[in-house]
Amino acid sequence: MTLYVSGTNGRVSLAELSKSNVFTSKLPPDPSFESPEISHRAPREALGPRLVKGALYTFVRPEPAEESELLGVSPKAMEDLGLKYEERLTPQFKALVSGNDFNWNEKEGGIYPWAQCYGGKLHFLPIKVWTDGSWAGQLGDGRAISLFEITNPRNNIRYELQLKGAGRTPYSRFADGKAVLRSSIREFIVSEALSALGIPTTRALSITLLPQSKVLRERIEPGAIVARFAESWLRIGTFDLLRARGDRNLIRQLATFTAEEVFRGWDALPAAVSLDKDQISGAVDNPARYVPWDQVQEHQGVQENRFARLYREVARRNAKTVAAWQAYGFMNGVLNTDNTSICGLSLDYGPFAFMDNFDPQYTPNHDDHLLRYSYKNQPTVIWWNLVRLGESLGELIGAGDKVDDEAFVKYGLTEEATPNVYQRAEDIIERTGNEFRAVFLNEYKRLMGKRLGLRSRKDSDFDILFSELLDMLESLELDFNHFFRRLSGLSLKDIETKEKREQMASIFFHTEGFGGIGYTDESARRRVGNWLDRWRYRIIEDWGHDCDHERQESMKNINPKFLPRGWILDEVIELVEQRGDRDIIERVMHMTLNPFNDEWGLNRDEEERFCGDVPRFKRAMVCSCSS
Ligand code: AMP
Ligand code: MG
Repeated sequence: MTLYVSGTNGRVSLAELSKSNVFTSKLPPDPSFESPEISHRAPREALGPRLVKGALYTFVRPEPAEESELLGVSPKAMEDLGLKYEERLTPQFKALVSGNDFNWNEKEGGIYPWAQCYGGKLHFLPIKVWTDGSWAGQLGDGRAISLFEITNPRNNIRYELQLKGAGRTPYSRFADGKAVLRSSIREFIVSEALSALGIPTTRALSITLLPQSKVLRERIEPGAIVARFAESWLRIGTFDLLRARGDRNLIRQLATFTAEEVFRGWDALPAAVSLDKDQISGAVDNPARYVPWDQVQEHQGVQENRFARLYREVARRNAKTVAAWQAYGFMNGVLNTDNTSICGLSLDYGPFAFMDNFDPQYTPNHDDHLLRYSYKNQPTVIWWNLVRLGESLGELIGAGDKVDDEAFVKYGLTEEATPNVYQRAEDIIERTGNEFRAVFLNEYKRLMGKRLGLRSRKDSDFDILFSELLDMLESLELDFNHFFRRLSGLSLKDIETKEKREQMASIFFHTEGFGGIGYTDESARRRVGNWLDRWRYRIIEDWGHDCDHERQESMKNINPKFLPRGWILDEVIELVEQRGDRDIIERVMHMTLNPFNDEWGLNRDEEERFCGDVPRFKRAMVCSCSS
């Protein structure tokens, strides 16, 4: 079965792919294994868990698997890497993505795999931005090994390709370096789901089953490897670890690397704003300020330095991503600093979920009794994490135009300069907080407006349409994402009278009706009908009376019919693991990559079931972190 059709122009084979190792060539390795040769000669056991200092990674090779079976490939990921789709059938591809293509030749030198070193922090409750959290210490890629970077020849985007579940590294702590099939299927499908929705994320190329590998979690389970890629795997936790160790040189080096190698140069960062407070009010949400550096040279007064601009870029990216999570009801599940990407990617697919019924208190993390990572907390938690990054970069952003002074670079702050620099850093962080909020709100409103089919923006939309919609969905316990898709299909005629609107309300109800306390069928329909009335006014305002078709199409292109909810993933896992099904992953991946379709030409009954009402007892599932 070959489901995917797309352009093949300019795509290459694995052998033709341009590979690099910019990360390891520019940043310092673990001093105990400072070259590929030394690491390669060391027995595997020597590369086991320990503390690694003064380094950002260790050279380490994947463990060869005795037997492996390629279970699925994302055609879109192949396309985005610039790889020919047929390449997946070659023995080289299968070996590469299962960690078996590794025969490094010392004489030829070349690229050697690596595992990154990072730390992590976790906030206390209630969340207070200036309060430091609990420090998890050195974490790092305990079961992920990066192989090389790939540059897509068609668009020059460079990705770091890595294998998750390919064996132990110095960062495995007390664990086995493996990943179970169950969590690998979840990551494989849902990273691609976010990408298909246009939400920045790390990506998944393939999933490989390791039938011989017996992995002990709550029970013994089969192991698997996900080959995944991202423009960068750097996290806020990478900087946290350096800060905790007082490694100021490495912080500067890593920040410079981030700007130059990950964000495509300092010029690509947001323009500086003056440090004069009067001048910046209102500027942060003005897109006109987001212009290349060389165009704002005429600015007067003290400028932010380039590290402050880097900080703001990281904040802006994360603001947009968390806004998209909120707009689509996605929850990461464990938002510590080690799971927050410097690039603003959705990162680390653990106990994540798409929301079923709208419930701001919902957390998909089984162990999250305090609702730390609940839906409503996500934007605040991301900001808390970003404040930790601000602290790691504090000296650099606070140093202003003295940041390149020789004495500062070499010896750091003098006692005398310290209070000023700290104050300036704090001001910049606070102001970036305003910018984060503004960018977040702007993006959230943009997406919600689009999801509701609006073309223009009105200040009143937020209260009258968005907030009232969310309150209504919460009170009546209705499905968040289904609501938008079903709304997309309505015509103005369907809801032109009060009676019709109240009758139509049932398309948003579950098969068993609606939930919530104190509602009668009549009052529930009235509430939905009233909302539909307001919505109808806004649609007429934006589209006139005769644009149903065009508006419906535009809404369907942003409101997915299919999303891989928890219950669907569970079903896929059971079919693959218990029943040996080998087609379901491909079908679900096809739906995942084309979430806005009305149909997919596969198994019609299955498609409709997957897109239909979430079975009552499978809603709001929770997931354990053990994976
Ligand atoms: P996570 O909960 O996936 O964010 O992982 C937290 C830390 O534990 C990271 O450093 C992971 O690499 C590491 N880790 C999680 N599971 C394993 C495992 N099975 N083997 C080795 N390291 C692991
Ligand atoms: Mg993690």
